[in-house]
Amino acid sequence: MTNFLNHANLLFFYKKSNKKSLLLCQRGNISALLSFYRWMTAGEVLKEYWGYDSFRPMQSEIIDAALQGKDVLAILPTGGGKSVCFQVPALMKDGLALVVTPLIALMKDQVQGLNDRGIKAIFIHSGMSRREVDLALNNAAYSGCKFLYVSPERLNTALFRSYLDVLDISFIVVDEAHCISQWGYDFRPDYLQIGRLRERVDAPVIALTATATPRVAEDIQCRLARPEAVRAAQVSGKPVAHGFTLLKSGFERPNLSYIVRNTDDKLGQLSSVCAGVLGSGIVYMRNRRKCEETAAFLKAAGHSAEYYHAGLDSRTRSERQAAWKKGDIRIMVCTNAFGMGIDKPDVRFVVHMGVPESPEAYFQEAGRAGRDGLRSYAVLLWNSADIRHLHQLEGVSFPSLEFIEDVYQKLHLFFGIPYDTGIGRQLKFDLEAFSKEYGFNRASVHYAVKYLEREDHLTFSEDVDIDTRVMIVVDRNALYDIDLPDPHMADLLDALMRGYPGIFSFPVQVDEDALSRNCGVSVSQLRILLYNMSLEHVIKYIPADHSSVVFLHHDRLRPGNVALSPAKYSQLKDAYHDRVEAMLEYVSETDECRAHFLLRYFGQEESAPCGTCDLCRSGAARPASTEEWLCSQVKSRGGKYSLMDIRQAYESAQLGLSPDWTSILRDLIESGILPPPSSV
Ligand SMILES: [Zn+2]
Repeated sequence: MTNFLNHANLLFFYKKSNKKSLLLCQRGNISALLSFYRWMTAGEVLKEYWGYDSFRPMQSEIIDAALQGKDVLAILPTGGGKSVCFQVPALMKDGLALVVTPLIALMKDQVQGLNDRGIKAIFIHSGMSRREVDLALNNAAYSGCKFLYVSPERLNTALFRSYLDVLDISFIVVDEAHCISQWGYDFRPDYLQIGRLRERVDAPVIALTATATPRVAEDIQCRLARPEAVRAAQVSGKPVAHGFTLLKSGFERPNLSYIVRNTDDKLGQLSSVCAGVLGSGIVYMRNRRKCEETAAFLKAAGHSAEYYHAGLDSRTRSERQAAWKKGDIRIMVCTNAFGMGIDKPDVRFVVHMGVPESPEAYFQEAGRAGRDGLRSYAVLLWNSADIRHLHQLEGVSFPSLEFIEDVYQKLHLFFGIPYDTGIGRQLKFDLEAFSKEYGFNRASVHYAVKYLEREDHLTFSEDVDIDTRVMIVVDRNALYDIDLPDPHMADLLDALMRGYPGIFSFPVQVDEDALSRNCGVSVSQLRILLYNMSLEHVIKYIPADHSSVVFLHHDRLRPGNVALSPAKYSQLKDAYHDRVEAMLEYVSETDECRAHFLLRYFGQEESAPCGTCDLCRSGAARPASTEEWLCSQVKSRGGKYSLMDIRQAYESAQLGLSPDWTSILRDLIESGILPPPSSV
């Protein structure tokens, strides 16, 4: 794939371009080269930049609406190619797209991917110091940056807001948009800042999510509505006329077979799935220790398996993730920390070793199987212990409001923060030590802090990687007179000075891999060198760390002022309860097709039984008419299908469908109900 337009293309666009671009271009500015994309169609940008010939279902509709300046909410299933939907229009417009996402790993991956293609993209997340954020924002504002990725809690900081007027924002992109809804399974109060952002930024919104029930979808649109619409609704008392374009692709995954097993021998069942289904797999578990045990069990049974959870250091995690992605590790046993933002098309099975807390989470995790369209399995193993556990969890997840308020005050005490101070502070929070100090139950504290996050008092980022930082503490001129005991140290100092201009003024984040390559040492040798140089008082060295961070949204409130609404508390508790109940219904269902059940939950009423889930296969699921089945097959392919696709689906489905399906299909086409087959 070419990174830039080739020379001939460039000349062609050069002629068509306007004066401003010409000027910038003569200065050799990268962004000016990129602004040539403005003269291309969306399809040409896709081809040039991603190398694809055509868009996937829904992508072009979303891009068209965004380019027309409409606010868009797109509900695209996992693996539906979300990033293309905002990256293409952003490249076609001047300015930068502000991308709000809570997923730091995804942020890093996408920024890396864009930078690799010569497109300037920058990210800001909660692990960065104020100086680093300032530097990044400055860079975003004045260096032709096309994408600024931001974690939501940054939006309301004074620093970020001070840059709003100089950032030329083309689109506000809201990834994981369901996080803005209280009714969603993953509400994050920081997301509410995005609505407030619209007061200051006049740019259309592109909101994206993989899972939203109709209620959540409506809530997302109202909360992201233009400020005028919100004000008008407040005055009139009517619902918000948000004016969003809602684009929703079908949730059907025709190649994914949902299987549910009630069993007391989960390991035995898991073993037979791993032996019976070839190719890569993911096994989800809730508990870190059990991940380790299960991986060991699979290894002992001769499978290629490894475990992954947020307790591992970042290096090990990225090594394991890469090995799994390459196929060197076949099966990953993990907590839900694994999988977000990882695009591996050929995952053949996803096994859940227990019942997840919500259909949203389940659908997303199970949906990581079979993105390449080939037959894949989503297996859920459960027994009565899981039900008991889920009910217990429900109790723990909502500690009493008194307890939550107590944790609020003690948290400030723990860090020695007096009343009426503390706003904007970022605290390395050791949950274990805190719970021990006050004799609290660790899980209850965890959920109490999570609740305080919901109520907008703070942001709680768990298991954040804090990168290695270095600052040179010796004066630049004096540096050459220092006698360093190890020749590698001189190389390292040189590399640090060349690579990190700010290093004399404040601790900067350094890339250990690049430094070790530069100096011809291993990463562990590099760390020893850095440590020894800090002993020589040449540098200040802050080693990489892995911990949880609390970010305070306002000054410490006095007792009685920590407004926690009992009404809201019980609503949230009810919504949580409903999700758990829906999940319990899913596993204990006896006659509704599994796919049908999940689609119905997401508001898609008209769908035919899938024909390949455990209930369809056993003949227990209510049968579909051949017409219904054909319609849902065509719909799941976005209306673009070939007769071969349908034939294959027909052969793998065991539904008692009419053998004369071709003539039924012809009737449906002739009466205009279905589009004719295309060659795609
Ligand atoms: Zn089914």
